[in-house]
Amino acid sequence: MSYSLQGKSVLITAGPTYEAIDPVRFIGNRSSGKMGFALAQAFLNEGARVVLVSGPSALHLQHEHLQLIRVESAQQMLAACSSYMQSYRVAIFAAAVADYRPKYTAKQKIKKKGDELLLELEKTPDILAHFGKHKKNNQLLIGFALETNDEIANAKSKIQRKNLDFIVLNSLQDKGAGFSVDTNKISILDKHNNICNFELKNKEKVAQDILNYLKQNADVF
Ligand code: C5P
Repeated sequence: MSYSLQGKSVLITAGPTYEAIDPVRFIGNRSSGKMGFALAQAFLNEGARVVLVSGPSALHLQHEHLQLIRVESAQQMLAACSSYMQSYRVAIFAAAVADYRPKYTAKQKIKKKGDELLLELEKTPDILAHFGKHKKNNQLLIGFALETNDEIANAKSKIQRKNLDFIVLNSLQDKGAGFSVDTNKISILDKHNNICNFELKNKEKVAQDILNYLKQNADVF
């Protein structure tokens, strides 16, 4: 019998994060949020209760079993997710969280002067790794990896380091995969070293593939 999602608490992160340089500028990336929103919809369709924590995204979603929390920075995403760390049964981290943020955020708009401007950056909190550290036996934790080289080796080491059940790998070498496009081509690698490759398809179908994989394999994790 496959794993039922009916009434289960599912936490999903989506979109980019914006890390403020000053009141008007930020460090961000081109993530649209499409993959995370499509996942939220797929899990809602299965009867799950979904908390979707999204960085800045133009997308909208409404459902009686959906709580959509909009945030800007990695720090805010961590704070929003942390409230659900004890209660989630499935967590999927599809957000493209900035790895670094300005060490200091200027209170006033930075004035143009000189030919160079040096920004000092510091690491953002790794939300997924934090969740991995505190994961309980009845919780499933899934990450995403976007790699340009050594995809499989990097994805495997991420499963270990972040204590994941499986990771969804999308390679920027694949045409039509990645940020701001409607399609994605993924491979799923699990903690038992199984690899499953999927065709290029739209993100709604990719979300369904991820959900099906989870339902079919939940008992072996
Ligand atoms: O290590 P890397 O950034 O490639 O890992 C990607 C995975 O970790 C994604 O699932 C992403 O959502 C998550 N992540 C996170 N917090 C960070 C960086 C990445 O949750 N600061």
